[in-house]
Amino acid sequence: MARAYNFSPGPAALPEAVLRQAQADMLEWGDAGASIVEMSHRGPEFLQVARQAEADLRTLLAIPDDYAVLFPAGGATTQQALIALNFAGAGQRVDYVVSGHWGKTALKQLVSVDVNIAASGDSDGFRTIPARETWRLSKEAAYVHITANETIHGVEFRPGWGRVPPDTGDVPLFADFSSSIASEPVDVSKYGLIYAGAQKNLGPVGISVVIVRRDLLERAGQPRADIFDYRSQLANESMLNTPPTWNWYLLGQTVRWMIEQGGTAEFDRRSALKSKLLYEAIDGSGGFYRNEVDPSVRSRMNVPFFLAEAALDAAFLEGAREAGLIGLKGHRVLGGMRASIYNAMPVEGVQALVDYMQEFRRHHG
Ligand code: PMP
Repeated sequence: MARAYNFSPGPAALPEAVLRQAQADMLEWGDAGASIVEMSHRGPEFLQVARQAEADLRTLLAIPDDYAVLFPAGGATTQQALIALNFAGAGQRVDYVVSGHWGKTALKQLVSVDVNIAASGDSDGFRTIPARETWRLSKEAAYVHITANETIHGVEFRPGWGRVPPDTGDVPLFADFSSSIASEPVDVSKYGLIYAGAQKNLGPVGISVVIVRRDLLERAGQPRADIFDYRSQLANESMLNTPPTWNWYLLGQTVRWMIEQGGTAEFDRRSALKSKLLYEAIDGSGGFYRNEVDPSVRSRMNVPFFLAEAALDAAFLEGAREAGLIGLKGHRVLGGMRASIYNAMPVEGVQALVDYMQEFRRHHG
């Protein structure tokens, strides 16, 4: 089988050009006599790779100089725990707006802080995001946390919802951008902190990105081990211990590819096109396929959808596989299907899915 169109939610498809480059680099890095993954992280070769990745990420996301960038090992869940440890005092109030599964996961990582759920879409199955006017924010909160894009529920803060990012006054806004980072231009200066696990738009699993306003790092936070301290990590270029060098290298390659493709403006354009194609196919199917998310907050990255008859799910997935379309099975929390259409998914891949959906419906509708 040739490489399929891969709609996996994460780890997700990487650009083929990046995989080919990685394949070439795997055996020997330049004329170093060894692969980049076999060399010291303190050596000049890897330091160059790491610093270039940061420089390129700063270019791609237009990160202002008064923001630091960290590349912590591990995933987004770890950052969900670390942000409270680093930025909230013991017992201090933190505000969370929950718009889906990952917002709930973020809550589970909190200990020793006073959690206020300022708003939640739970009561309507996360099909909407509560309007900003309904949020019950606390004046003294250490931060307000949102999930920019909910990967499972397919719910994203979009302009149709209201002002994005939402205004939180003097309290810094912290956002989980794991599944939508770099899918459109974002004004970083509106956020106190942005974090993302890399395994969707930024490349491989095993490394995260944290973008944080430098003045926030002066906060005392809570007692924590040095390895969990963002300040120590920053002072050591995210290399207090051995970083996941291969993942960092791959992230850098993926970021470079996005810049070469035209940057976030171009991915904004492609995301609009791809998501429109798919939602139109679902909405125009006469109920054969359905997506129940309020159109004003539908995600452009993750499109969950259901077949009218769940009994057809297995046949749908089997046929999709035969048509070279993989990774479409929905998350166990929701069931049904989900197409994740991150930056590495070409428009042709979404078109192939839409064509398949129409053909499947002709046979089974
Ligand atoms: N937040 C979001 C929005 C996610 O999509 C995910 C993973 N799918 C996570 C957090 C958790 O990430 P990780 O598995 O890297 O801890």
